[in-house]
Amino acid sequence: MRTINKIIIHCADTPPEMDIGADEINDWHLARGWSGIGYHYVIRRNGTVEIGRSLEKQGAHVFGHNEDSIGICLVGGKGGRRDDVFSDNFVFEQSVALDDLLTSLIKQFPDATVRGHQEFSSKACPCFNAQTWWIEGIDLEGQPNKIDTMILIVDAIDDQLSDMRQMLLDMQKAEKE
Ligand SMILES: [Zn+2]
Repeated sequence: MRTINKIIIHCADTPPEMDIGADEINDWHLARGWSGIGYHYVIRRNGTVEIGRSLEKQGAHVFGHNEDSIGICLVGGKGGRRDDVFSDNFVFEQSVALDDLLTSLIKQFPDATVRGHQEFSSKACPCFNAQTWWIEGIDLEGQPNKIDTMILIVDAIDDQLSDMRQMLLDMQKAEKE
């Protein structure tokens, strides 16, 4: 296996409604005269992770840094800017999938750092700060701890509490009758 020092995040630069995956990107990269898809993983709009190039092979995704890196491409990001945040261009399912994928890759390659393409190029890609997103979004156990995940949990508890409140009100009413 190659030495992996970086996991580099990209976007496909496609509009939000465009539902493509590794097959379509493979076709684009073949058309550019490359030996097929340049990324190792693609994360579709619904959060499905698709395999691109084998990890053993160096990718073709970031000039001068392909040798010691893994490339992950998030579908979306068209028209995004360097200072955008994740949710400006991508959806919750993609954030969960990226978390899971990075967590398992970091277990395999503990020395690798998570980076964005924009750190190595003048491009906006992947249209959010991947390093900050990863470091601030993950707790010490490597579990997802994003604000949107927390909101979902709070919402679920909120629903359960109002169900419980209603149940108690019904019981109180039944007792009085
Ligand atoms: Zn890129």
